[in-house]
Parts: sequence; structure tokens; C-alpha cells
Amino acid sequence: MSDPTPAPSSGAPEKLVIRNIGLLLSGRIEQPILDADCIIAVGGKISEIGRFADMDCAGADTTVDANGITLAPGLIDSHVHPVIGDYTSRQQQLNWIDSTLHGGVTTMISAGEVHVPGRPKDIVGLKAMAIAYQRFYDNFRPSGVKVHAGAPVIEHGMEEHDFKELADAGVRLLGEIGLGSVKDGKTAAQMTGWARKYGIQSTIHTGGPSIPGSGLIDADMVLETGTDVVGHINGGHSALPDDQIRCLCETCKQALEIVHNGNERAALLTLNTARELGKLDQLILGTDGPAGSGVQPLGILRMIAMLSALGNVPAEVAFCFATGNTGRRRKLDTGLIEVGRCADFVLMDQAQHSGGKTLLESVQLGNLPGVAMTIIDGRVTSGRSRNTPPAGKIASVV
Ligand SMILES: [Zn+2]
Repeated sequence: MSDPTPAPSSGAPEKLVIRNIGLLLSGRIEQPILDADCIIAVGGKISEIGRFADMDCAGADTTVDANGITLAPGLIDSHVHPVIGDYTSRQQQLNWIDSTLHGGVTTMISAGEVHVPGRPKDIVGLKAMAIAYQRFYDNFRPSGVKVHAGAPVIEHGMEEHDFKELADAGVRLLGEIGLGSVKDGKTAAQMTGWARKYGIQSTIHTGGPSIPGSGLIDADMVLETGTDVVGHINGGHSALPDDQIRCLCETCKQALEIVHNGNERAALLTLNTARELGKLDQLILGTDGPAGSGVQPLGILRMIAMLSALGNVPAEVAFCFATGNTGRRRKLDTGLIEVGRCADFVLMDQAQHSGGKTLLESVQLGNLPGVAMTIIDGRVTSGRSRNTPPAGKIASVV
């Protein structure tokens, strides 16, 4: 649970070279595989992607030999509920974010800090808490993981100036609409509009109540509210009836978020409907952890394998749901292997003794890959995962 080592104080931006990449997954659903074997990052940003033989790899501060394995953008969990640092009171769990880094996740997005004991519901209190949470995780990255937090849950009585004040103070997210007192579409739509006007992204709790105290949000309310993300369209855990899920897929232009803590059959219905409609670019993945179902360090990898295997999606496309799709929909500077994006990576290999001839075949057969290394902002943050099945081959710093 340590932060990555600080940059050397030479003044020059750090240079990272990753060579000998066997398979490069881009995160871009239009072209999920890139024809390249080497990436250079300078100052934590990708500066060059290509063939090692043609690139200037001299003067690197760090060189990683990928040993022929697969590199993908670091995975993004679009839906988490952090409490404080790397502790959650929800399941009395320490170091759940570090464990999730070992599942290949380098970025997390809060859908509301709703498990905090004594969470304030008065307006001045919820605004103060949102600002404090944005600062907590901006100032402290557990094990290097980027946690976007400070996601207030809207309550009746909020006015336009409250959203402006939140935005001016650096708040960029709303927590799941429906977890507070606002449970009608009209009020929710008005507040979502104010949030959007000041650059704050919104999401909504879709489906039945998750725990005592939360409520039902049906398709009509989701449509009327018009949040940027249809949060856990497959329920968290109770999903809406199939016709309502189909209606949301047909009508919505926003992100359609599938979560691990949801209904797996509804997840597959969403995937199949989105595919029929040519909307796979709208699918994003989250865990919704920690929650009643627990903490899922491998939740995003499990979703990728499940959707690929049971939904018959090429594994390289399923990886895009958890990387580039989320990065784009959430307006992040990560999730894609492109020049200028953050050098956030996960290196993986086919798990030992799993079926299939390649990592992609193995995942499409429903197996998890073995995580061999993670890198955040151009720095190595973990080595061989302590949580995934062991990777056949691992990368090493040379
Ligand atoms: Zn929810």
C-alpha cells in the first residue's frame, strides 16, 4: 500500500520504454489491436507507439521487457463506492484498492461515497463532503491508483448555485441519483441539467433497491433524468424487466454501464441488445464495489471474460468496454493507447494451464488472464499479481 517512488530530481521528464510487446490492445473499439511492439512514454504520457527497431529507445530511465506478452490500457472501474483512503467500512475491508490494482485496474470512478458512516444529507454538509472527497483522493492515490471521487448524492432543496459552487471547487461528478431523497424525474432532470451546465458528470441508480434505504429507479425515470451514464443498467443487484432494459438500450445515447454486482443475465441482454443496435461503443464496465456483494479485486477482468465468453464477443473488443469506451465516455485522459494519453498500462499473459492457444482465446473461453505488471503515469506500480491466476510469462524491468 505504498505510493510509487517519486520522480528523480534531475529535472528532465522521466522516459519509459516498454519493448518486446507480443500483442498490443488499443482500447479503441474501431481498431482494438495495434500493429506495434514498443511504447515510449515521457513524463507519464505516451509519446510514441511503433516498432522497436525504428524507435529511439536510448536514455530511458526505465525499460520494461514485456517478454512477448500482452499490453492493454490500464482497466477503468466506472462504478465504485470508496469510503476513506484504502479502507471501506462496507465490508470492513482494508487495502481493497491495492487488491484491485492487482486485478489490472488503474483508474476508478466514484458513484458516490455513500457508505461513509454518518454521511451528511443537508445541503451544506453534502457539498462540504463532496469537496473534501475530491481533495482526499486527488491528494492520495492508494498504491498509485487514480480514484476520481467527490461525487455528491443530490437531495431535495439543492439550487443551481449549489452546483456552480461545487464545480468551482473542483467537483466533477455526481453520485448515483436515486440514493438520496430525489426520486422523481422532474427534479432529477433539473438538477442533472444544472450539473451538466457547470461541467459535472451525472449517473443514476438503475433498477431495484440495492440495500434497505435505496429505492426503485425505472426506465421512465432514467429517460426523464437524462444522466450522462445509465448507471448499472443490469441492476445493482435487482435488474429492471427485460422490456425496460431493451427500451433504455434503444433510446439512450449515453453510456450504458454494466456492473459486476448486477444481474449477469441482464448484463448479457444489454450486450446482445447493444450489439443488435450497433451501440457497442456505449458499453462501459464497473464493479459497484464495495457493496453488499463484497469487494471484487478481479471484478473488471471477470466481467470482460464473462461478456466475451457468454456474450460471444471477441476478447479484444471486451477489453475496450473497460478501457477506451470508459475513457471516452467519462472524458478521461486514459484508457487508450494513443500519443498524449496517460501511460497507464496493464501487462497480462494467458493464465497458466488455461484453455486456448493465446490470451485472447483463453479469455473468450471464460478464463481470466494473469496480470504480470501494472504501470501508472509511466511508473511501475505492481509486478506479478497476487490475485489473478499466474500469468504464463511475466514482464520485467531491465
Ligand atoms: Zn446503485
